[in-house]
Amino acid sequence: MPKTLAMAEMSELSPSDFLRELHCHGVRRVSRVTYRKNRNTIWSLTQRGTVLNVHEIFRLAPPDILRAFAVITKQGGLSSRTAEAASQAISDWPVLNAAIAAARAEYDERRATASCDGVGSVTHCCATPEQRAYVRALYSHFNRTRFGGVLPEGIPVRLSRRMKSALGHMLPGEHKGRRYVVEVALNVDLLLVGNGAERVDTLLHEMAHAADYLLTGARGHGRSWREWAVTVGCTPEMTYARPVRRRKRRRDLVTRVPPLPHALRRHKA
Ligand SMILES: [Zn+2]
Repeated sequence: MPKTLAMAEMSELSPSDFLRELHCHGVRRVSRVTYRKNRNTIWSLTQRGTVLNVHEIFRLAPPDILRAFAVITKQGGLSSRTAEAASQAISDWPVLNAAIAAARAEYDERRATASCDGVGSVTHCCATPEQRAYVRALYSHFNRTRFGGVLPEGIPVRLSRRMKSALGHMLPGEHKGRRYVVEVALNVDLLLVGNGAERVDTLLHEMAHAADYLLTGARGHGRSWREWAVTVGCTPEMTYARPVRRRKRRRDLVTRVPPLPHALRRHKA
């Protein structure tokens, strides 16, 4: 984790220093403290409240944060209002939030540069700037005209040349209990001549996943997704039955920018 200057200047506690601090506050139950690198875990009590696992940034914990941990561990968890208030104070510690944000950014960057195939992976976008503007415009257009604007405008929409049979995916994410969409990705083959209907259908299909996930938390092609599919006018099926035109060779570049829908062309003019 990249340390800021301010963090580096603070004194660091080893796990046994941390434990000693807890004991000084009268905590008896805890016999071990561990530092965790997890991006999302702030703290947890395991082994019947005898082991306190904390995010590694707490090696920089100031006295008030150590006191808050003492309150929680003395009670063996969040069994009272005071423990909950202490937990809130820990979650609100600005240094923790900065560290989690930094770790997340680093993780996202690593995923974005990883080169793997298939659903669930984030790869480089192969779109040209013009193609990127095109899918962006199409996404905004459908969000306005079919989804009643319920989707966030900022969802990344990417083109992929690594997908094999898949035509698209929606990658769901969660941070601090809040759902978000990591990305919507479309197979770049969808931009080829003759794939107009498939392109629209796939984008709507993935946007329906995004709306379904953000509003209900549902994934997959269950009832709530099918309701979205019917509402916005895409095929309410998991897979696409009609054949899609493909690049001749997988390494071929697709630079074509299809014409925007008529409504959108008038809108822009
Ligand atoms: Zn799907």
